[in-house]
Amino acid sequence: MPLYSHSRISTFESCPLKYKFSYIDKLEAELGNSIEAFMGSMVHMVLERLYTDLKFLKIPKKEELIKLYNKEWKKNYDDSIVIVRKNYDAENYRKMGEKYISDYYDHYHPFDRAKTIGCEMRITVELKPGYTLQGYIDRLSFKEDGVYEIHDYKTSGHLPSQEDIENDRQLALYSLAVRKMFPDVERVILIWHYLAFDKELRTEKSEGDLEALKKEIISRIYEIENSHEFKPKESPLCNWCQYQPICPRRKHLFKNEEASPEEFAQEDGVELANTYFKLSQKKKEIETQMDEVKDKIYKYADRNNVDTLYGSSVKIRVWKGESVKITDNEEKREELINVLKDINLYNELLKLDTYKLSKMFRTGQISQINQSLIKPYISKEPIYRLYPSRFDWPGD
Ligand code: SF4
Repeated sequence: MPLYSHSRISTFESCPLKYKFSYIDKLEAELGNSIEAFMGSMVHMVLERLYTDLKFLKIPKKEELIKLYNKEWKKNYDDSIVIVRKNYDAENYRKMGEKYISDYYDHYHPFDRAKTIGCEMRITVELKPGYTLQGYIDRLSFKEDGVYEIHDYKTSGHLPSQEDIENDRQLALYSLAVRKMFPDVERVILIWHYLAFDKELRTEKSEGDLEALKKEIISRIYEIENSHEFKPKESPLCNWCQYQPICPRRKHLFKNEEASPEEFAQEDGVELANTYFKLSQKKKEIETQMDEVKDKIYKYADRNNVDTLYGSSVKIRVWKGESVKITDNEEKREELINVLKDINLYNELLKLDTYKLSKMFRTGQISQINQSLIKPYISKEPIYRLYPSRFDWPGD
């Protein structure tokens, strides 16, 4: 059984294909780190240094920390770091990190609200025998008797709501480990430092919450272990995914990365996408116009009691009939089935719904055993569907 982590489980939830690339195929990332991740790691490193110094009874000056941040930034920054938001450059991000450190320092100086036990502490939680989860706590501290605090630094530009925080699983899982590690634990307070906003968000979990969470995580791990298909799941996070160049959902974008605007416009796939999109727009317009004209024709035919309209060398025959709708009432539907059986019409009407069957196969609604029972009677052929939509280039 592999060692799970919160980020491993979250990766599966956000995109099963990314999970496969990263954790099953263990592929090297195709793209470099995002600038957001890089800036976050630099800020974390500085805060770790701050609390390590404090353990040695040294309160570093703010300027020293900023100097360290800038020195490490310069040393570690390289061209492989990806900036998705094209309106901003590395300097914007560097300054943001600098400000986060400065605000944090002013907010918490002289840093004596709690005693630090450790920074970047590796913890493991045994969810059940054979199911172990590992993680790293940014900072663990304790206050008066039995009150422990798990601190997490966030450099994201998005401030979550208190409800989001209540539903967050990561620190709650870490609190399970802390409860196990220290027998005198009375309370474990979970604290997120949203550095961009110089704001703390806090919560605590009851034993009941943690038990429910354990069950939820175990069942998610079962789901991962029993997955056979790892499909791409597109979301705004794709713009930051390091596997975009090999993912079928994004590969085409990267295929033409080096092309000049002229070469790009002439590439087969680009031409096909542009042509199809234009045609589908036209088709939509025509369909709307046709629906309006059709409606007018029906009304004209009813009003004038005619079933054929003549134009200049054209005629339109208007067919009017009735379609049957079956009641939604379950009991009545059962009765209808019995009536149809009595009058020998049921088998006639019972058609094999291949659309539904295909969907059931695709979505895994039929167990492997049942699939093998059905397979001798069916064959599978590829089908294609196109879903045209507008696409904003990352960072536009
Ligand atoms: S680019 Fe998007 S869909 Fe593709 S693997 Fe990455 S997250 Fe998944």
